[in-house]
Amino acid sequence: MLVTVLAGGIGGSRFLQGVRAVLDEHAGTGVPRPDAHLVAVVNTADDITLFGLRVSPDLDTVMYTLGGGSDTERGWGRSDETFTAKAELAAYGAQPDWFGLGDRDLATHILRTQMLAAGYPLSQVTEALCRRWPLGLRLLPMTDERVETHVVVADEEAPAGARAIHFQEYWVRLHAAPAVREVVLVGIEDTTPAPGVAEAIAEADVVLLAPSNPVVSIGPILAVPGIRAALHRRSGPVVGISPIISGSAVRGMADKLLPAIGVHTDAAAVGLHYGARSGGGVIDGWLVDESDAAGLATLEAAGIAARAVPLFMDDTGASSAMAAAALELAGSVGARR
Ligand code: GDP
Ligand code: CA
Repeated sequence: MLVTVLAGGIGGSRFLQGVRAVLDEHAGTGVPRPDAHLVAVVNTADDITLFGLRVSPDLDTVMYTLGGGSDTERGWGRSDETFTAKAELAAYGAQPDWFGLGDRDLATHILRTQMLAAGYPLSQVTEALCRRWPLGLRLLPMTDERVETHVVVADEEAPAGARAIHFQEYWVRLHAAPAVREVVLVGIEDTTPAPGVAEAIAEADVVLLAPSNPVVSIGPILAVPGIRAALHRRSGPVVGISPIISGSAVRGMADKLLPAIGVHTDAAAVGLHYGARSGGGVIDGWLVDESDAAGLATLEAAGIAARAVPLFMDDTGASSAMAAAALELAGSVGARR
């Protein structure tokens, strides 16, 4: 079985741990399945250049988490991290000073930047970086081309009463506090899916949308020209998992951005936003949390097969149960089609 998962950083990697565990279990004998059975297509629109270094937060979160090298307490970055370089930069008064660049993490960015400068596309750089980590999946950036999420925030001092800033500045420096007028994916029209992405979508038995941010993680992936079409064309099922539980984003601040695209912070509303594939949308099935079961009828009426199961990923066991439920729902919509 081949499973392709569209994912962002934290929600994406936690869910991927569950999918990987389920696939390993199906294979039996405790032997990890070869990478060929699980592909993660990951958002790169959060990427940013800092101090001349290219940083890919979502790719790195998936790589560190699945590779067993992430800081599970902090929720981002490397385990056993130190921040000496960051402190030295601060001593110089260097800006920006709000991005958490750890010493171990810096090695990843230095290597990525060096390989990109040497002419390798991001997909090949990612493959090279991943060789060190026992991922048990194939990690693909959504695109090799550069695209950056900017948000237009209210700013009374700006001439137009608003200004556009990089998503990371909004998210990390401003903690998503300013009101968002618009989310702009700069450069998205000129991107193409990275090598292997269209194939991974076409050939997978099941495509899953991880419980990742619908606006700045899954949104950019779906906005890469060609990816929606690939989802439409495939014959097998596409199932998504809600990142919203009981009207709020579990970890993170997805609830701050959904209003900017006119979507209620509600599990069923996000499912309807993705839409039934039969009606031009991208999903056949949608998992909501048990607490959101009231939305099931609306989803079914819109042509989306929906189930309510526990969706809180407090450990890999919970993520695995979610992954198993998603694959089961995929099996039932696959049989129905
Ligand atoms: P980011 O790129 O690091 O922001 O991570 P993602 O976009 O992959 O995931 C962030 C989103 O995951 C958050 O906005 C939450 O809505 C969602 N999320 C985080 N933890 C959980 C969880 O335990 N269960 C569910 N269903 N969603 C979660
Ligand atoms: Ca992200």
